[in-house]
Amino acid sequence: MSEQARIAFIGLGNMGGPMAANLHKAGFAVTAFDLSADALAKAREQGVAVAASARAAAQGAQVLISMLPASRHVEALYLGDDGLLPTLAAGTLVIDCSTIAPASAQKVAQAAAARGIAMLDAPVSGGTAGAAAGTLTFIVGGEAAALARARPLLQAMGRNIFHMGAAGAGQVAKLCNNMALGVIMAVTGEALALGAAHGLDARALSQMMAVSTGRSWATEVCNPWPGVLENAPAARGYSGGFGNDLMLKDLGLAVEAALGVGATVPLGELARNLYAMNRRAGRGALDFSSVLGLFTELPPLRDA
Ligand code: NAD
Repeated sequence: MSEQARIAFIGLGNMGGPMAANLHKAGFAVTAFDLSADALAKAREQGVAVAASARAAAQGAQVLISMLPASRHVEALYLGDDGLLPTLAAGTLVIDCSTIAPASAQKVAQAAAARGIAMLDAPVSGGTAGAAAGTLTFIVGGEAAALARARPLLQAMGRNIFHMGAAGAGQVAKLCNNMALGVIMAVTGEALALGAAHGLDARALSQMMAVSTGRSWATEVCNPWPGVLENAPAARGYSGGFGNDLMLKDLGLAVEAALGVGATVPLGELARNLYAMNRRAGRGALDFSSVLGLFTELPPLRDA
């Protein structure tokens, strides 16, 4: 992919904004669009060219990248009444980085293939910090030849690229990872709350667990107990990080994906309910590690 290639980038939210900015910094010609005026203004401040509509951004682009909230947004962008697929030239490469249902990714990829357009599902891991630092992990489904074309672009936004298989495989793998993460975070909160209820110091308990068999990303990087790790969302009133409602969405997708193939995901289903309860407790917009609040009293939260 030469740096002269024109890239359209649709969806400049917490993740897409910094990703588009990193592509621009790497020398690619990016034209971006978002429905939000604030998101467009931020992109402009970073030097990214913006367009008045998704269609205008996509006009003449060789590559189209999207980073949208959920399946319905992605299907509407490409397949809706005013969808982009019919407007794209054969040979265009589409890379959807949103986390969506595998079936949805396959549906859009099939419609794209019928028009001679290669499409990759390339959801990411690494959060907003990884998006800003350009260190995301891309978890890719689609044809190897399309990934070879996409690679220089993905490398400008991330550090690791995993090709998981055909269309939809990237989404399946992403959901497997997030289902494990959701369960591990919840049980880590439960374990720390149990220890604290016995009078243990959560920091000492976390330090022990972090070098023992209960260790995980939840004990070492994003510890849910306020004050254990100074850079974790828990230390700043659970602001920033990966939102409870995004975890809830991903667990819903994992359960739905399990139904489709008759797989059993009892812990994933339980975790989905826990994050739904955390949302009902008013913590939907907070980092998902606030699920700790289901097991113990959280300190008063600062206004986000
Ligand atoms: P976000 O809500 O911050 O951003 C989404 C953006 O899409 C918004 O700015 C919105 O205005 C825009 N949008 C919606 N419909 C549009 C349309 N038709 N045309 C143009 N713009 C449109 O979400 P985010 O945190 O950036 O997450 C994006 C995706 O990445 C989600 O699928 C999420 O699950 C996934 N993800 C997020 C994180 C994270 O830490 N935030 C980590 C990994 C994956």
